[in-house]
Amino acid sequence: MRGFFIGRFQPYHFGHHEVLRRILDEVDELIIGIGSAQESHTMDNPFTAGERILMISRAIEDMDVKKRVYIVPLEDIYRNSLWVSHVRSMVPPFDVVYSNNPLVIRLFKEAGVKVVSTKLYRRFEYQGTEIRKRMLNGGDWESLVPKPVVEVIKEIDGVGRIKDITNKDV
Ligand code: NAP
Repeated sequence: MRGFFIGRFQPYHFGHHEVLRRILDEVDELIIGIGSAQESHTMDNPFTAGERILMISRAIEDMDVKKRVYIVPLEDIYRNSLWVSHVRSMVPPFDVVYSNNPLVIRLFKEAGVKVVSTKLYRRFEYQGTEIRKRMLNGGDWESLVPKPVVEVIKEIDGVGRIKDITNKDV
């Protein structure tokens, strides 16, 4: 069975990592869709699709996964009724979708695809918004993401980028 897991992963954190671990127990192969792939360099979406691919692929390497995982960037299209067809045209065929996003769940259900709802692990602690806020304000964000993700964010000066793009004094 091949599963499809979609998220924006801005950035990929321990909450996503734990959900991924659980999904990998259930499927033979997994496709990870990087949503809003066209977005980057904003406070809500600071990282490019390529940077998010690096974060996830390196974090998965550390998990010592024996199953095949495909990571596919997916740009948004501004017509929800066509989105499932758009996704299908971009990724390998899949049997089940994993998501907790009400819109994503609704669109796949309407298209007749089986959807499994994924609760994020320790949601109060691991949240993309909080991690980005800590990066901006000099808080401890490193403890909320896998070590390979810390390394990627340092390599691309992700914290400097968030500070620069939110600098209102220029
Ligand atoms: P999202 O809009 O990026 O995330 C919504 C919220 O759900 C975020 O707070 C996120 O937290 C949280 N979340 C992510 N995974 C979760 C999980 N397993 N359990 C509980 N909460 C979770 O939505 P998304 O579901 O992560 O990604 C969906 C992607 O599909 C987006 O890029 C969206 O633009 C795209 N999409 C596009 C269209 C279209 O183009 N028409 C239609 C539907 C969906 P974190 O910030 O901590 O990750």
